[in-house]
Amino acid sequence: MEISKLLRPHLAYLTPYSSARDEFKGQADVYLDANENAIGSTSVDKYRRYPDPYQTALKEKISQIKGLKSDHIFLGNGSDEPIDLLIRAFCNPGKDKVIITPPTYGMYEVSANINDVGIVKVPLKTDFKLDVSGVLDAIEPGIKIIFLCSPNNPTGNSIERSEILEILHKFQGLVVLDEAYIDFSTNSSLVGEIVNFPNLIVLQTFSKAWGLAALRLGMTFMDPEIVEILNMIKPPYNISGATQELASKALSHLDKMKRMVKEIQKQKKQLKTMLSEISAVKEIYPSDANFYLVKIEDAHEIYLKLIEQKVIVRDRSRVELCEDCLRITVGTEKENKILTEQLKKICS
Ligand SMILES: *Cc1c(COP(=O)(O)O)cnc(C)c1O
Repeated sequence: MEISKLLRPHLAYLTPYSSARDEFKGQADVYLDANENAIGSTSVDKYRRYPDPYQTALKEKISQIKGLKSDHIFLGNGSDEPIDLLIRAFCNPGKDKVIITPPTYGMYEVSANINDVGIVKVPLKTDFKLDVSGVLDAIEPGIKIIFLCSPNNPTGNSIERSEILEILHKFQGLVVLDEAYIDFSTNSSLVGEIVNFPNLIVLQTFSKAWGLAALRLGMTFMDPEIVEILNMIKPPYNISGATQELASKALSHLDKMKRMVKEIQKQKKQLKTMLSEISAVKEIYPSDANFYLVKIEDAHEIYLKLIEQKVIVRDRSRVELCEDCLRITVGTEKENKILTEQLKKICS
């Protein structure tokens, strides 16, 4: 598969922005090339300089943890940025299309819509399993990207590895596999497959297991050729210096991340037990993530009554296949208790 054949034609001739740090990369004594404040900063002195546009040190750390070479990594302002950049790089507006498999994460559709890119929906089956033959049948000329999410938001289940591999084998375009919740799952990541499939793009994030949603940092793993393409079209300094620093620090605490995941898994189990004792709860769907999709009588009314009690969950009751469902994030022991006690009161 040739990536360059998928690229929007005009990008082959793009002259990207060349930043001060692109033009001089070595070490010097006097930097007068970027119009920064030479005197100091109103806040933190080291932040008066522009950050590394390619986040070299941070990627080096990520590469060690993930067992991948640095040139397979692209970092974005959240996962939202690579989703948008991939659509912008490969999908011609008004002409090309992407496949999504609802119910799933909303940003794939929003990003496609913003870019005037068509959407072909292949809904999950009623048990939330991927309709693999439906996806394969939906492939037609002009389909550039298939978005898959595993574990899936909002349903919580994972896609079978063999099914993802089958799609990778049979589709000549890009497969974006969103693994935002992979650290909570007992299934292993497909990130190791990027060396076998140049059309596989794996998204992960610092927003969930790493506990750094406010930093807005998404990791994207893929063929170096696609990394180069995204580097060419991204805003030059898309990852702030503070983010690079704090994320770098976080990566030195992999053990803490794993401990927190264990604690979340423990709380998740208890939350399930407590929820199952509430008679209005009709189903707690199996979850490989840090949330449960819960079918409950009069979900929307319950959602509103929970708000009155200052407990906020995600109302998914109007989402197709998720009728009467709430998506509930696993909280602390105390939060889960408050939630279930309020639910009991509301439902009695
Ligand atoms: C939370 C989430 C993300 C993370 O998005 P960020 O922009 O990195 O915060 C990505 N994909 C899915 C499916 C999610 O639920």
